[in-house]
Amino acid sequence: MTIDENIQIILKELESAKLVCVTKTIDSERINESIRAGATIIGENRVQEFEDKCDDILPCERHLIGHLQSNKVKKAVQLFDVIQSVDSLKLIQDIDKKAEAIDKVQNVFLQVNIGNEPQKFGFGSNEIGQLITEIHSLKNVHVKGLMCIPPFVSSEQTRSYFKEMKTLFDEMQKIDQDNIDIQELSMGMSNDYKIAIEEGATMVRVGSAIFGNRK
Ligand SMILES: *Cc1c(COP(=O)(O)O)cnc(C)c1O
Repeated sequence: MTIDENIQIILKELESAKLVCVTKTIDSERINESIRAGATIIGENRVQEFEDKCDDILPCERHLIGHLQSNKVKKAVQLFDVIQSVDSLKLIQDIDKKAEAIDKVQNVFLQVNIGNEPQKFGFGSNEIGQLITEIHSLKNVHVKGLMCIPPFVSSEQTRSYFKEMKTLFDEMQKIDQDNIDIQELSMGMSNDYKIAIEEGATMVRVGSAIFGNRK
């Protein structure tokens, strides 16, 4: 199967949900192949890797989906349309400062550690309420969505994490705060994006089902 064929099949399955084509480790030529095939959003995990290849990539929306270290925030704010992997108060404060310095309003998603796994990044779902209050005054970030990477478990268990995310997403859409406008629920990867769609994902992040297994 070619990149083009894979993209066509996935786009049909998604119906109204958006595809983030996950391009970590993929060279710019193959990324451009995916964009020509209809991908409109790409997702990268590492700022440095993306910086090295971004000049060669066709116009598209660029999302950061991997953990962001504080020394890379400035670069990330310059390079990405959306930072999906906001996982701490300090990080969102840093993003706000760096965005203000270049007169940008940075769109971000909050990463939720839905399985409460100690080794994973993200807010506990019970921490989100407090966070919302704490970021009240930040003017250069705009919270537009939620994202999660659920625990690696059977697909039926995964479904229950997706359901929890959907509940949180519905709750957060009711928040009335200037810098919060929750529109996207980013969940589901190559193995489970169909389940994610059934459970209300508005955006899925798919890599290996498009490009084949990464080395
Ligand atoms: C790599 C990655 C994906 C895509 O994973 P695949 O299994 O290749 O589809 C999605 N989200 C994040 C955060 C990733 O790091």
